[in-house]
Amino acid sequence: MSSSTVHSGPWFGDFGGSFAPETLMASLLELEEAWKGIGQTPEFKEELSDLLCNYAGRATPLTHARRMSEELGCELWLKREDLLHTGAHKLNNALGQALLAKKMGKTRILAETGAGQHGVATATVCALLGLECVIYMGEVDAARQKPNALRMELLGARLEVVKHGQKTLKDAINEAMRAWVSDPEAHYLLGSALGPHPFPALVAGFQQVIGEEALEQIQRQAGGLPDTVVACVGGGSNAIGIFRAFVQEDAVELIGVEAGGEGIETGNHAARFSGGEPGILHGCRTWLLQDEGGQILPTHSVSAGLDYPAVGPEHAELQALNRARYAWCTDREALEAFDTLSRLEGIIPALESSHALGWVRSHRDSLSGKRVLVNLSGRGDKDLASVFAQRDGGET
Ligand SMILES: *Cc1c(COP(=O)(O)O)cnc(C)c1O
Repeated sequence: MSSSTVHSGPWFGDFGGSFAPETLMASLLELEEAWKGIGQTPEFKEELSDLLCNYAGRATPLTHARRMSEELGCELWLKREDLLHTGAHKLNNALGQALLAKKMGKTRILAETGAGQHGVATATVCALLGLECVIYMGEVDAARQKPNALRMELLGARLEVVKHGQKTLKDAINEAMRAWVSDPEAHYLLGSALGPHPFPALVAGFQQVIGEEALEQIQRQAGGLPDTVVACVGGGSNAIGIFRAFVQEDAVELIGVEAGGEGIETGNHAARFSGGEPGILHGCRTWLLQDEGGQILPTHSVSAGLDYPAVGPEHAELQALNRARYAWCTDREALEAFDTLSRLEGIIPALESSHALGWVRSHRDSLSGKRVLVNLSGRGDKDLASVFAQRDGGET
């Protein structure tokens, strides 16, 4: 069994670290102390576990996707994070961090969001715990994920629409970090396993419940370990959340799927490992998309949650160690998988999760007869407008 090789940062091999302005260092240190102190007490763990179970709906089920298995010629299992309250894995981390912030005496939460699932999860926990909430979201994302923008407002959050740069996730993170610098009394509730220490390890720690459950469930329900575990990788939190439980099981292949957009050769994608190089963005050293002058390159994905130029540093280490492999799936393959799962299983997946499924569909030959575990990170209700706009030949 696993779980002893759990990283606590600040370094993941050559990656990670804390490249933050002096003014943020005090806040980051305060957070690290709270995480290592209050965050490790049995009282904190019990309170969080009670919320995860009785508020959020954990454990999420593991579903054997029988009809899709038959079509693909492999044994496909889905870890159902789409069934978690608010519709994606983001709530695991939002609950953990908000509870920690509350115990630190914070009254205000700042957060960024891309697809809006993290914004919704954060607005939700702030309503639950009585915290003030400000969410930064790029203008492009606020338009393509309108239902989520509306949900955040309904939940009592203030939505700050970011109108510069590419107006997507990177710009929202820039803005949220800037806001934190001038408001150190607030807690910045970062939504993925990226950014400066302690965020990558902190977020992974709150997401590893996914893999812990899935490991136990697949052994019980399928009678053994999976051959392959597949997850989509935006910042990398749902992937690291499921990978950590299987890292020590050498026989289990780990596949992270990035956004291939219109294809790597077009330059319109967000596949950091296939099209990028190591560098520094948002406080950590990791793989990212930049030009020769070190300027961050624009990204493209049909899925807002994967549309980000850097990746969490723990994935950079897993790749360097050859323990996980990072592949990509194009917009088109993801959209096809979105349709297939909807029609064959009655489950409408998030466009992000559809990238993991799209990779499996495209690699069915090499997966033939294998037991494949896919982390279904979220549900697709939020994506209907994007999907139908694509069908009509429009932009997303
Ligand atoms: C945000 C999001 C992602 C991407 O973020 P990770 O940190 O890489 O997990 C993937 N799937 C869904 C449903 C999301 O909301």
